[in-house]
Amino acid sequence: MNMKIWKKKTQDEIKQRIFDALNNNVNYTSQNVLGIPASYLDEEVFSQDETFLKEAPFMTSLVKNPNHIGCHTLGDSEGYFSGTHAIEKELIELCAVDILKGKPSKYDGYVASGGTEANIQAIWIYRNYFIKEYQARPDEICIICSEDSHYSVDKASNLLVIDIIKIKVEQDSRLMTENELSSQIELAKASGKQFFIVICNMMTTMFGSVDDIDQYVTCLKAADIEFRIHVDGAFGGFYYPIANKNNPLNFKNKHITSVTLDAHKMAQAPYGTGIFIVKKGLMKYVRTEAASYVKGQDSTLIGSRSGANAIAVWMILMKHGPYGWFEKIYILQKRASWFCQQLEKLKINFYHLPSSNIITIKSEYICPKIVKKFGLVPDNHVKPKWYKIVVMSHVSIEKLHQFIDAIKQSKWVNK
Ligand SMILES: *Cc1c(COP(=O)(O)O)cnc(C)c1O
Repeated sequence: MNMKIWKKKTQDEIKQRIFDALNNNVNYTSQNVLGIPASYLDEEVFSQDETFLKEAPFMTSLVKNPNHIGCHTLGDSEGYFSGTHAIEKELIELCAVDILKGKPSKYDGYVASGGTEANIQAIWIYRNYFIKEYQARPDEICIICSEDSHYSVDKASNLLVIDIIKIKVEQDSRLMTENELSSQIELAKASGKQFFIVICNMMTTMFGSVDDIDQYVTCLKAADIEFRIHVDGAFGGFYYPIANKNNPLNFKNKHITSVTLDAHKMAQAPYGTGIFIVKKGLMKYVRTEAASYVKGQDSTLIGSRSGANAIAVWMILMKHGPYGWFEKIYILQKRASWFCQQLEKLKINFYHLPSSNIITIKSEYICPKIVKKFGLVPDNHVKPKWYKIVVMSHVSIEKLHQFIDAIKQSKWVNK
């Protein structure tokens, strides 16, 4: 493995780096800072006790409460928190280069509130890009994605007032057919759409399925349409590139110009760690110049956000290192394939993409009692057709075994 930034660090090295970074931020106690509407966490509620905090870099980050407002890979940003901004910059570069195979120093990004924000940020950028560079009218722009896409894409469509086209997938393969895709593109074209924002899934929320990017590229080129592609790896970003070495959804593909990857899904980071990465030169399309009180202005959707989030993700990745991370994913992969074998033995119908840790079972095989007992998640709470199991860190073979035993006992096939 040829990692440029991602190298395993010892706990001491991690601690040192975080404390050094925090020391390079503003110090409200020792410095005389009167103008910023920010401070450390409330001292009556959150202990500032040195003996308690000195072994706890993440807790210290929370207590010191650095603000990471804005986007720090662009150059100019708030100097008060430049120490911890540097950690976020390194994290973005690690994701862009070592996970997504981009060239060094060619990508911008930030730690967004979640995958929802990162997806909206991407669509916002491309909408404005088409308006600015092609004088597109909003009604000539549309979002295109599969019907298995996350609902954050619908939010983006609603907020940004651009239409969305959802392509049906085949029930069992969860793949779009080329026919369906090109006929939908032709229909949209006929109704005046000329600029397409593609949301290409790297593991969908319900199925863990991965879209075929070449299908999009082929069909959109054949239709002679301008398009930009964003990869939604909110679920899969920290999983799929590792589980599938031949994963094509990365920056080696020149059509991919931005990616979402959530650390609060598979990387077990605190909520508020949706990572947005975009090719340099695109963030400017959403720069809000009215953000005049923020140094470097603001090119993000969110505004103020906690620096502790970026620190948490950086710590997780550095603590495991790339090999540790690969081992972690490897174990989940092994559990998932063990579980699939058991389902096959029981002749239960399910969807599972190799290199994924989501197993989605047809609802007729599972009685309501089991759904409740094992906390399975349906595709639709009103009329479930599928239930999913997500093999996370806590989902051990022991636990999966109990589920299989329960299924065997229930002998329930509701066909
Ligand atoms: C979870 C998820 C999102 C949304 O992420 P949040 O962090 O919940 O906002 C977007 N896309 C996919 C594929 C997801 O799985």
